Amino acid sequence: MEEKIYLASPHMSDEGYEMQYIQEAFETNWISPLGKNVDEFENEISAKVGSQAAAALSSGTAAIHLALKAAGVGEGDIVFCPTLTFSATANPIIYQNATPVFIDSDYETWNMSLKALEKAFEKYPTVKAVIVVHLYGLSADMDKIMGICKKHNAVLIEDAAESLGAYYKGKHTGTFGDYGVFSFNGNKIITTSGGGMLISGNEEKIAKVRFWATQARDSARHYQHSELGYNYRMSNVVAGIGRGQLKVLDQRIQKKKYIFEFYKRELGDLEGVQFMPVNEWNEPNYWLSCIMLRGKVKPHDIMEALEKENIESRPIWKPMHMQPFFAEYDFIGTGVSEKLFENGVCLPSDTKMTDDELKRVTNIIKRLWSV
Ligand SMILES: *Cc1c(COP(=O)(O)O)cnc(C)c1O
Repeated sequence: MEEKIYLASPHMSDEGYEMQYIQEAFETNWISPLGKNVDEFENEISAKVGSQAAAALSSGTAAIHLALKAAGVGEGDIVFCPTLTFSATANPIIYQNATPVFIDSDYETWNMSLKALEKAFEKYPTVKAVIVVHLYGLSADMDKIMGICKKHNAVLIEDAAESLGAYYKGKHTGTFGDYGVFSFNGNKIITTSGGGMLISGNEEKIAKVRFWATQARDSARHYQHSELGYNYRMSNVVAGIGRGQLKVLDQRIQKKKYIFEFYKRELGDLEGVQFMPVNEWNEPNYWLSCIMLRGKVKPHDIMEALEKENIESRPIWKPMHMQPFFAEYDFIGTGVSEKLFENGVCLPSDTKMTDDELKRVTNIIKRLWSV
């Protein structure tokens, strides 16, 4: 069996930056959810993306949860959420006892449909917050989405878990809304093994988030609590991995783009193959290279052929409104996300892949068109 090719796996720096920061944490004995790596990782992310303030947290999911809390989302509130996403976008809405309303995608962006969003506002004018996702590192159409949200006075949260390093009209994704969320889970473009970051232009809100994330301890000697707290802070060891990874983010994006362009060159002319939409205002991070199939070859055929050769690939996220757990909630749209789910494939996008390995992948796929 040939060596396994992954969809996207951790890729530490050749220089060993991550270990240097971990070493420092050990030498200074800051093996805790606070310390220099945590502070510096927050500063470095803020500087990189151009945000006012950042809070390093234990996961992207925790960041979405505390963004909702900071936005004042609570029991009975309605939150608009893209249906085409990972469940981590939607779960925190339930943690806050709020009600998600799922919004469809469009083919132009694969992200939140403007038409569906406007229709949702007509139906639920009192909505508290809107979460927008930049799927697979492709930005949503932020100018239009922000315009609609402003008109209705809704708080905007950007789930940029998949889009670190991706820009919309030259501005970093995650910095448009009231809050932005990044994830450093193992499969993301850079990883800390697990972790997340909440960014905002509102420093007071970020200070409040750090407070909630450390058990909401009031400043008193005797462990005083006047609010519900969480244990959501990022560890100083983990933050060291993040600081090292951040140094190679641009390299990773370059390689991800190279992979996307390789696939486009090799597979772009196959009948019925359509690549994920890169719009003129979009500067993606190409986290995953995804295609949609409109011909006789189906996603299942590709995934099975690759799996036989020890190569990992995945379907597009299964929409939330099709999930048993979320089936009871309202969905606004015309079914574009269902079509993307049925016909889409995420191709192996691991940045450690060699040209020979990329060739291996494209040869297997091309064979399906020649039978
Ligand atoms: C990965 C991911 C998250 C969750 O991040 P974690 O750090 O794994 O909690 C949220 N939203 C999207 C779209 C993601 O891909």
